[in-house]
Amino acid sequence: MNCEELSHDGWRMEFLPTFFDVRFRACLVVGGGEVAARKAELLMRAGAAVTVVAPELSRSLAQYRDTGKLSHRARVFRPGDIEGCTLVIAATDDEAVNREVSELCRERAIPVNVVDAPELCSFIVPSIVDRSPVIVAVSSGGASPVLARILRTKLETMLPASYGRLATLAESFRERVKRRFSDVAQRRRFWEDVLQGPVAEMMLAGQERAAKVAVEVALQQDTPSSLSVGEVYLVGAGPGDPDLLTFRALRLMQQADVVVYDRLVAPEILDFAHRGAKRIYVGKARSDHSLPQDEINRLLVRLAREGKRVLRLKGGDPFIFGRGGEEVDVLAAEGVPFQIVPGVTAASGCAAYAGIPLTHRDYAHSCVFVPGHLKDGGDLDWHALAQPHQTIVVYMGLHNLETICRRLIDEGLSATTPAALVQDGTTQSQQVLIGDLANLPAKAEDVAMRPPSLLIIGDVVRLHERFAWFEPAGVAEGAGLRAAG
Ligand code: SAH
Repeated sequence: MNCEELSHDGWRMEFLPTFFDVRFRACLVVGGGEVAARKAELLMRAGAAVTVVAPELSRSLAQYRDTGKLSHRARVFRPGDIEGCTLVIAATDDEAVNREVSELCRERAIPVNVVDAPELCSFIVPSIVDRSPVIVAVSSGGASPVLARILRTKLETMLPASYGRLATLAESFRERVKRRFSDVAQRRRFWEDVLQGPVAEMMLAGQERAAKVAVEVALQQDTPSSLSVGEVYLVGAGPGDPDLLTFRALRLMQQADVVVYDRLVAPEILDFAHRGAKRIYVGKARSDHSLPQDEINRLLVRLAREGKRVLRLKGGDPFIFGRGGEEVDVLAAEGVPFQIVPGVTAASGCAAYAGIPLTHRDYAHSCVFVPGHLKDGGDLDWHALAQPHQTIVVYMGLHNLETICRRLIDEGLSATTPAALVQDGTTQSQQVLIGDLANLPAKAEDVAMRPPSLLIIGDVVRLHERFAWFEPAGVAEGAGLRAAG
């Protein structure tokens, strides 16, 4: 490779990325405004001894000075200020001062950054994702700070907030692992297993003690593979719109070996699962129980015992009418490691996407979730439900819609109490049917509402007219159910 090739685009870098140790080092910030304050904060976070030179300080800088976090020279910049500095940042709004700082520093080979003036910088400050001790720095070489920030945001969403804990875990075992595996390849394999397997998930889920025990156990075994104990992730997939998945749900979906899912889980969401993951459908429609609950429980235990990472994916939230409690009960009894990831439940999702606030100071002070899937229509405390200023959300209520509305009227709710049915909420085929306790059942039959549908009862439903904002692609304009009803 000759020199010309070396300077080809794509090979050459504008800047050398490095991480600079400034702990206890004298660092100077020139300027006392808010921009200077952000830079001073960054330096302080990295442990620097910060001095700010500026005639006046912004409020936050003054606070740092008053609490002894930085020192202040209350005057304009003088060339002697850079004496003995490890690093200098200029953030004044006076171009001449910024230029002077830059030139002086460059003469003395002191690293200097001038905010928003790449041509005056000998180093630039990247956008950072801080998962200390892990830090990701992003730079566009000064070409587009906004682009760097957008990229940073993407990385923020990819890296769990507690990612740094993995590094802390690794550090605490580093020496012992080195002693245990003298072979470099073996050691690497061990760390790969720890840092992206179940142990990592335990750490990220805050199960630090369990994670440490698992590493201890693995260290005593003959082969690193003993780390691959199975576990179950009980994950809420939300009501339908894939955008409503949590970051953690997404991450677990991408690393699970097996996905055990319900009818309510949208196909688009299932697509997020790892390509090689086995998918097992266990049904759960009202009339079509493909697998009875205890068989599902046994399946989860068996798969985990085979060493698999099992993603038990449920519609909405696993602990709201999802029988998540029953599954966890069995896992706990069998000693299978598990974690539970909440999801957006149908009530939240449907309410938001239909523009119906579940509580509102003028209409409802409380909100109850009840199942409408009743034996003989007699299971619920109808009297307690039929209260003023209360929103009632009925899951699985379509089948008994008529009974539910009638019982509430019998218990004293006005027949004109507004009520809504939201079918396929949050998806591109969402339909909202608005009526009242008296007429909703007939309307629902007219337009053949089908599951999954959520019933929302109470004065808050009136707000739908003003608050509706979501326009699903699957419903032709003007053909909404309100018109049809
Ligand atoms: N665990 C789930 C609820 C399971 S019960 C959750 O937290 O959402 C199943 C019932 O949820 C359905 O009968 C229906 O009433 C409601 N539901 C789930 N998803 C829905 C959706 N996208 N739109 C409307 N209702 C939904």
